[in-house]
Amino acid sequence: MLKAEFIHKVEEAVGLKGCGTGQEALELYSADASRCEGKAELVVFPDTTEQISTIAALCNHHRVPLTVRGAGTGYTGGAVPSQGGILLTMERFSRIIEIDQVNLLAIVEPNVVTGDLQKVVESIGLFYPPDPASLNRCAIGGNIAECAGGPRAFKYGTTKRYVLGLEAVLATGEVIHTGGKTVKNVVGYDLTQTLIGSEGTLAIVTKAILRLIPLPPCRETVQATFRHIDDAVGAMIELVKARVIPSALELIDLESLEAVARYLDDRTLAPAGTAAMLLLEVDGLPETVREEAARVEDACRRVGAETVRRAADVETRDELWRVRRELSPALKVIAGLKLNHDVVVPKSKVPDLFKVVEQLRINFDLTIACFGHVGDGNIHVNIMVDPNDLHAVSRAADAELQLFKEVVRLEGVISGEHGIGLSKRPFMKLGLSSAELALMSRLKRAFDPNGILNPGKIFPDCSQDDSASIG
Ligand SMILES: Cc1cc2nc3c(=O)[nH]c(=O)nc-3n(C[C@H](O)[C@H](O)[C@H](O)COP(=O)(O)OP(=O)(O)OC[C@H]3O[C@@H](n4cnc5c(N)ncnc54)[C@H](O)[C@@H]3O)c2cc1C
Repeated sequence: MLKAEFIHKVEEAVGLKGCGTGQEALELYSADASRCEGKAELVVFPDTTEQISTIAALCNHHRVPLTVRGAGTGYTGGAVPSQGGILLTMERFSRIIEIDQVNLLAIVEPNVVTGDLQKVVESIGLFYPPDPASLNRCAIGGNIAECAGGPRAFKYGTTKRYVLGLEAVLATGEVIHTGGKTVKNVVGYDLTQTLIGSEGTLAIVTKAILRLIPLPPCRETVQATFRHIDDAVGAMIELVKARVIPSALELIDLESLEAVARYLDDRTLAPAGTAAMLLLEVDGLPETVREEAARVEDACRRVGAETVRRAADVETRDELWRVRRELSPALKVIAGLKLNHDVVVPKSKVPDLFKVVEQLRINFDLTIACFGHVGDGNIHVNIMVDPNDLHAVSRAADAELQLFKEVVRLEGVISGEHGIGLSKRPFMKLGLSSAELALMSRLKRAFDPNGILNPGKIFPDCSQDDSASIG
């Protein structure tokens, strides 16, 4: 329980309007897009870096858990205040401070919505490539804390490639500035990259300097359907051999296609005999795009595509991407519980990963829908169950563990985008040695000696008694 004296000091720092203790506020910030929940004792809405610095120093002094929250779209419970204390919402940090067209960078506060930043820079011919599917809701700070990726990562890389510098508040309240406006910087350890993907456990990001690139002037989409999933994966390997790197390369399997077809009541989206669909996009100068799109079509046909469609205009492109866009809501409708995993394997092992999934379907008698960024080897494996069927839920948990073990055996990792947070914490030991985990834990202590920042996340052996519930 937070002491009245502590709450009073926080109120002094942020003003009465910057604090909430009512049940409604505590409830509103108790969950993210995962199945994890946990209530804070106080929600704080700071306006300035100085206020955050004061709050961090107070929490550090009084050993009060401090969980920072962006837009709350995380899939692993990272923004869930699982050990009570303060929930610090960054929602008032939502300004685009500067777009520097000479140095090709943007300076932003962390709660700028990713899609909003993209629209603004694209209107002046610039491009911020990271494109998580949640881009119309998620925020840059959350993207940085999770190192978010998306379909374009195959060609353009993930968030970490676009962060040049950060302003951040440490657990002690000190404010640091890492990196800067230059693309090159090898002065000491790279603190910027250390903070990227640290899931709010090392520092609170209050400002970011982001790298922009010129907007590719032209874009074309190719959609291809296949009778066998191996052929769809084969097309990706053909493309890599032909040295074409599409700006997006998404695979949607039969279970996922079926879900969307049922959800939209449109059988043309999953015609009988289709086992997988590929969505590919190429971008760049018009001549290059035309040439690459033709090579993409050829590669798909060479490995036996049933249908190949190509779109250059916005309307047809939108139509081809419709299936992918509708996947999330469609899957929600077909089963009440979706164990959504973002595993990654080396590209060459993607066929093995699909074999593993097929085996899991058979061995555990489960519906498993897969789609994702096949070019990166990053496949979203969704184990779908009825939450009221306890046998199925238990089989799903076993299948999940088996999946992670197999992914590690295939030289992959258990998360490529969503991070560890609360929900994947029990599996951290699968992919990391005790020496690596111990080093990470020493790094955590160096940044946050009293363990106040987002406690109970990432590390598998936290001794604290978690009040959060998973599942
Ligand atoms: C429908 C849907 C589709 C998605 N698609 C993708 C996808 O394609 N690719 C992908 O990578 N992810 C995807 N996600 C997951 C999620 O959107 C991303 O992880 C996103 O980066 C989270 O951003 P957020 O602002 O919502 O962060 P939150 O959920 O609020 O927080 C996530 C983590 O970041 C920390 N954090 C937030 N702000 C800060 C800050 N200022 N300083 C320090 N730490 C901070 C939090 O403590 C927490 O640990 C998807 C989610 C949904 C619901």
